[in-house]
Amino acid sequence: MFDLVTHPHTMTKLRSLFPLFLILTLGVGFGLAQNQKKGKKKKSYPKKEYYSGAPIKALIVTGGCCHNYLYQTFALGSGVQKVVNVDFEVVNVGGRGTEAMIDLYNKVDWAEPYDVVIHNECFANTAEPEYIRRITEAHRGGTPAVVVHCAMHSYRAAEIDDWREFLGVTSRRHDHQSNYPVKVTKPEHPVVADIPPGWVTPKDELYIIEKLWPNTTVLATSPSEKDGKDHPVIWVNEFGGTRVAGTTYGHSDEMFGDENFIRLLARSILWAAGKEIGAPVESTE
Ligand SMILES: [Zn+2]
Repeated sequence: MFDLVTHPHTMTKLRSLFPLFLILTLGVGFGLAQNQKKGKKKKSYPKKEYYSGAPIKALIVTGGCCHNYLYQTFALGSGVQKVVNVDFEVVNVGGRGTEAMIDLYNKVDWAEPYDVVIHNECFANTAEPEYIRRITEAHRGGTPAVVVHCAMHSYRAAEIDDWREFLGVTSRRHDHQSNYPVKVTKPEHPVVADIPPGWVTPKDELYIIEKLWPNTTVLATSPSEKDGKDHPVIWVNEFGGTRVAGTTYGHSDEMFGDENFIRLLARSILWAAGKEIGAPVESTE
């Protein structure tokens, strides 16, 4: 249900959260048992508001500088699982600094087992081209991705543009933390279709977008409080035919406690993985 593939250092921290994970696992298990009782001969997956088909296999890659990744991962994972049938694996390694080369990316086919990879890592000063290309080439025409907040400032020191092309945006700095209004510019797009008009974020950072890549479609913007300029905060990209959904929000714990944000991530995961959102319950004989 929520498999944790973690570094030994993170396991120590995770022990305190274990009862919550246990409750989550038991909760889902209970739902399944109820469903089987009602479903008579048919085996069906637990009913979820956004997606109730066979579990999506998702990998969360997280760690590095500046944010509370253990909490963010738990909030994202448990929040999304309320509305989407998804199994998460988590790789939370690389320490708390701005530079790391993690073992996950050593293999060329590292992303192959997954339907979607969520990048929420933050390693701005890692710049080694071959290493970065092992990450991006697994996505180019390959596994879809959702990119969150500091992923946009990861590999910022790199001279090659591959990571930025994969993201669909180039950003190198952010404005101060504030409560930012989110203006949805493509309300018909499934990723943002559930964002209520007038949503104002919890305190979070506004990333300054200096460039949009050619295959990027902006779905929502927020204005800078310094110069009033609108910056994309939610978008989708096509990277060699592969879907990538991104948001620059996700700095604060408060944001990960916001239902609109968690639903945005849930819909981003589903859209990237090519699943219909809110499809009728699938059942198997
Ligand atoms: Zn941040």
